[in-house]
Amino acid sequence: MAAYDRDNIFAKVLRGKIPCHKLYEDDDTLAFLDIMPRTDGHALVITKEPAPDLFGISPEGLAKLMGVVQKLAPKIKNAVGADGVLIQQFNGAAAGQTVFHLHVHIIPRKEGVSMGREGAKMADPDALAATAEKIRDQIHSDEIRGEAGHG
Ligand code: 5GP
Repeated sequence: MAAYDRDNIFAKVLRGKIPCHKLYEDDDTLAFLDIMPRTDGHALVITKEPAPDLFGISPEGLAKLMGVVQKLAPKIKNAVGADGVLIQQFNGAAAGQTVFHLHVHIIPRKEGVSMGREGAKMADPDALAATAEKIRDQIHSDEIRGEAGHG
């Protein structure tokens, strides 16, 4: 199993040492916007367990992480007016992983709109803040309506 580096970028985000545009947090997970989004609303859900990849997390932790992905993805999709959602997760540098703290990408997709390359461009912080606010509003309004989080 890969070693876990406690000073990786996402560990620092978890400790509040690096800021993020937070979307959602609970005892086990944190969700925030990717700083180099491949589409509008590109989000990351990370575990609070110190796991470098899919193979380093407990089954319970993985179930919690994926439960949050399942709950958040439709809300993000609706918030940015997307038509579908790509869920992506990399394990190991050879597979394209660049941050070695387990995370799942939620990438909203619009019909006919192509996706940017990974790491191609840093987003404008104001644009990220506006997108994060839209998504948090969606989460909040779904909670008020008492929806179970599907669709
Ligand atoms: P990976 O290829 O490891 O699955 O993707 C890591 C992702 O983390 C990339 O999409 C990259 O844009 C994103 N990322 C890297 N550094 C930061 C950061 O400091 N803050 C945020 N919010 N995202 C980051």
